[in-house]
Amino acid sequence: MTTLTYDKPLPIIDELTKPFWDHALEHRLSVQACTHCRHLQFPPSPVCPKCLSDEQEWLVVSGQATLLSWVKFHRAYWDGFMQDVPYDACLVQLREGPIMVSNFSGPTPANVHVGMPLKVTFEHVTPEVALSRFTPA
Ligand SMILES: [Zn+2]
Repeated sequence: MTTLTYDKPLPIIDELTKPFWDHALEHRLSVQACTHCRHLQFPPSPVCPKCLSDEQEWLVVSGQATLLSWVKFHRAYWDGFMQDVPYDACLVQLREGPIMVSNFSGPTPANVHVGMPLKVTFEHVTPEVALSRFTPA
């Protein structure tokens, strides 16, 4: 029997971020929504940056996004990335507005360009963590 281990950094799941990770395990992407002014934000914060309300909820979003930028890492800052270099990190804007740093779900997409329509996918890396990635829509 082969033991699979995940040797890349894992998120710290706390009270603030747990709903995001729970949704991700169900392949649903979510962002924080202010219950007072409806501002949507990611990453989450204990208070709304627009109105300073501390009443926040989580909203499942479409998973549709637009590519804003991407960069290729040629150096492995953690040993777990040694086999992956060079790899891409991307900056996407969700259809609902918030911006996320993520990765493509595979190699650099063919014909990659700023403005490329993307959709979210999820990769289960541990029983507790599914990471969101983006692939051409
Ligand atoms: Zn607000």
